[in-house]
Amino acid sequence: MRYNRVVMSKTKRAFSKAFSFKLHSTKGKMRAGTLTTPHGVVETPIFMPVGTVGSVKALDSVDVTNTQAQIILGNTYHLYLRPGMKTMQQMGGLHTFMRWDKPILTDSGGFQVLSLGDAIAHKQERGVKQGSTGVKITDDGVEFRSHLDGSPHMFTPEKSIQIQREIGSDIMMAFDEALPDSKSQKYAAESLVRTHDWATRCFNYWEKCNRRSVYGTYQSLFGIVQGGLFENLRLASVKHITSLDFDGIALGGETVGYNLAGTHRVMEWVEPLMPVSKPRYAMGMGMNPIDLVEGVKMGFDMFDCVAPARLARNGSLYVGELVFAGGQPVFESECTNGRMSIARSEYTTDDGLIQNGCDCQTCKAGYTRAYLRHLYKTKELTYFRLATQHNIRFMIRLTEQLRSFILDK
Ligand SMILES: [Zn+2]
Repeated sequence: MRYNRVVMSKTKRAFSKAFSFKLHSTKGKMRAGTLTTPHGVVETPIFMPVGTVGSVKALDSVDVTNTQAQIILGNTYHLYLRPGMKTMQQMGGLHTFMRWDKPILTDSGGFQVLSLGDAIAHKQERGVKQGSTGVKITDDGVEFRSHLDGSPHMFTPEKSIQIQREIGSDIMMAFDEALPDSKSQKYAAESLVRTHDWATRCFNYWEKCNRRSVYGTYQSLFGIVQGGLFENLRLASVKHITSLDFDGIALGGETVGYNLAGTHRVMEWVEPLMPVSKPRYAMGMGMNPIDLVEGVKMGFDMFDCVAPARLARNGSLYVGELVFAGGQPVFESECTNGRMSIARSEYTTDDGLIQNGCDCQTCKAGYTRAYLRHLYKTKELTYFRLATQHNIRFMIRLTEQLRSFILDK
């Protein structure tokens, strides 16, 4: 059944016009909407490229604009360490610094603090000298050492929001404990209590700062549903997070984006309890084209993943297309996971494009599989840019096509 509806954010504040989400149309669980931020609109569903340290690796902001990206991510942990918040503020925030005037979403830093911290701890266990120790999680926050120079730091919910205010993003994420799936249910339950407490503290600090960045722009805040692979914890989490008036709701956890079957299961649990009127963000989802199709079919609006850029750099290029069979979007490709390996010798003299009809800058310029293979084999820097533009544009185009399908365009 298809029906049209327009739902405004319930937030009624003097500055609420700076952020809104309108849901235009749905098809089954699939949703098409528009997110309005101080730096422009984002049409959903959307794939968001990841600009880890203030650049989508191998691309500059002009290249990213050419992929027709509407919003990018910045990583709070990395930007906090380098260039640091003093430089960031002196340069007027991340938009000005990287010459990107469209929306930016920042993560909370929680995931990197734990994943890089864990990586450091494991290296130390193996006797690798790193000059650092792992992380220490307390109810107040997370103590960690920089993976760059071993210097000690601590992130609390308030500190994470403050750093995101200094970055000046349009959408901030609440600070949470990114829970590895390997943890016991007992640990997961304890972690969830902490994550919920931190979500409330982020919410309160956000309100205290009038929901504004240090540059005066409105910043929205999304809460994150955690709970690992435990249904009761996920349900408790979605109830708690949606009880706070966040501007959007995100789904986090190790499984989301990296284990499609597990992601599917978690989404089936939580989706019915998510408010229709708010944007829904599946964090880290978008490794393969099929992931975006499945995420949209499960009722989610926003996706991000470092994989399209990373895979491109490693010689994996997306091929395939979205077809609509029996009223459902289906991704079809001649290659497993929709990825071709450009290093293969069969492409040595292949004068075809990566994909016929692709509207990325690389394919539009007519660069052949043979040329890309040659650049890849000779480790030419140009390869990284050409490959990344294709993969990023591929994922964004997919979300555009899904949106058109939902809107019956
Ligand atoms: Zn292309």
